[in-house]
Amino acid sequence: MLRQAEALLKQYYGFDAFRQGQKQAIESIVSKGKDTVCIMPTGGGKSVCYQIPALMMEGTTIVVSPLISLMKDQVDALNEMGIRSSFLNSTLSAGELNARLKKCENGEYDLLYITPERLQNERFFQLLHQLTIPLIAIDEAHCISEWGHDFRPSYRFIQECLNKLPKRPVIVALTATATKKVHQDICQQLGMNGEETIFTGFARENLSFQVVKGQNSDHFITQYMKKNSLESGIIYTATRKEADQIYNRLKKQKIKAGIYHGGLDDDVREEQQNLFLNDDIQVMVATSAFGMGINKSNVRFVIHHQIPRDIESYYQEAGRAGRDGLESECILLFSPQGVRVQRFLIEQSTEDEVRYQHELFKLRQMVDYCHTEQCLQQFVMDYFDQSASAPCQKCSNCLDEREREDVTREAQMVLSCTVRMNERFGKMMIAQVLAGSKNKKVLDLGFDRLPTYALMKQHSAQHISDFIEFLITEEYLHMSEGAYPTLKVTYKGKKVLVGQEAVYKKQAIKAMAIQENDALFEQLRVVRMRLAREQGVPPFVVFSDQTLKEMSAVEPKTEEELLNIKGVGAQKREKYGDVFLEEIRLFIEKEKKSSV
Ligand code: ADP
Repeated sequence: MLRQAEALLKQYYGFDAFRQGQKQAIESIVSKGKDTVCIMPTGGGKSVCYQIPALMMEGTTIVVSPLISLMKDQVDALNEMGIRSSFLNSTLSAGELNARLKKCENGEYDLLYITPERLQNERFFQLLHQLTIPLIAIDEAHCISEWGHDFRPSYRFIQECLNKLPKRPVIVALTATATKKVHQDICQQLGMNGEETIFTGFARENLSFQVVKGQNSDHFITQYMKKNSLESGIIYTATRKEADQIYNRLKKQKIKAGIYHGGLDDDVREEQQNLFLNDDIQVMVATSAFGMGINKSNVRFVIHHQIPRDIESYYQEAGRAGRDGLESECILLFSPQGVRVQRFLIEQSTEDEVRYQHELFKLRQMVDYCHTEQCLQQFVMDYFDQSASAPCQKCSNCLDEREREDVTREAQMVLSCTVRMNERFGKMMIAQVLAGSKNKKVLDLGFDRLPTYALMKQHSAQHISDFIEFLITEEYLHMSEGAYPTLKVTYKGKKVLVGQEAVYKKQAIKAMAIQENDALFEQLRVVRMRLAREQGVPPFVVFSDQTLKEMSAVEPKTEEELLNIKGVGAQKREKYGDVFLEEIRLFIEKEKKSSV
């Protein structure tokens, strides 16, 4: 059985070996015929866990997937590999729908993707009775649980529907969310005993996590985009307004940005999503409404402009980076204001007191992540009750060698100015007084007569404001709630004022390039884009970045050498092999010429 599975993996996907968990899942489903839960991180390779069984088992495997807009890509990717598959959803015309149903009846598909709502459609349900269905895969299975972060009521009907089928197929539920509560809920709602649960662990070795705090986030993003202008990424925001602001700013800077949030019409969202998948836009600025089921494998960075509400959401969103296994970055820009925004959002959305406290507790754990000095990967693993073996050696804590600078004097200036202004003003006003601004409000209130006026005049008000932000982050200053927050000196800040405690600040984290320049890789990316356009599929469906990187490193010269590259299966070699081999040949030739 395993031999056959491995041969299929090589033939269709061009991969030599199964990843951790995949083999066990396939054995459980195909050999033992058992209902199975697969808990693997985003990018862990869950699709193979049901697609290979679909190829091995007689009949059509049904895949329940939450998002209509992504089914086409999933199916395109399978068909590109030569796996017979299709989808049914409300975007199809009646004629097309009928044609596909007919093909279903004739057993022409190994995999059929549907939304959970379709199971409630009477006509489709009748069709299911006539099909041979060996397996039902429930993708994003956490949507079934109210304790998950994407609860979708229609997932609750799946069990009822399964019970009405003449023969219950094997079920595989797949998710990247692994809290015990969600796991129990999935099993209970689908009538599974949970004995066959495959849990691969959550560590993502190709992701490096960073927390950037007490720094100007707009400035950081601008620098980052300059350094990584060829890389694809997502910037997550907590609110629609913030998404609009960043999007407009990036547009002004001539960066190819897209936008996605719940306030946009469905067709605009779909258009933006497609532009992103097709690499027509470089960076997507989005709220958490974006991303579920996005299979784009070449997302190289995920930046959170504000702190998300809990670690599950963070890990899921950040995990959208680097699905192809290449080095990718997950950066969280921390500000105390972000915590306030999340607290406000939780207040607005949670009426039940127990749940409210639960959500606040989870937010506090997220804040702890931002302040810990421990390895960031380990922190997340601990959160999921899974202790990692060793520090990751690539997160911003593991790699932190920045010098500490003594900024006690500057801190005292800010704290003293805050006290002299009777702790009744906000960050910008205090910054203006310290910078010596001639702003009307400053003069009207007589702040130009304070001894702290213009005490930091060698710096701009913006620079001082960023420094104040650092003092808030480090809890030397406390920011009040409300629309016009004012600053107060904390107990810790008072100790600094009286010279009992010193303040140290590390140098700012600099935005760096993720990948080194690789000329052949860039050239292959251009070829991939051209082929993708011709085929009407997203570029990563043609070949992943990882496959192109390996081609660039190995420089294959024959079809055989090309087949040894991870991600080149039989059908793709046939379809694209010549074009890529020729491009590589020309590149080598040019290199040779230029070196003589
Ligand atoms: P998930 O659904 O768990 O987020 P996917 O199924 O989309 O992950 O797989 C993530 C990436 O890993 C894809 O680019 C896929 O082609 C690749 N992948 C999956 N299995 C293997 C394997 N055995 N060897 C190499 N790459 C793999």
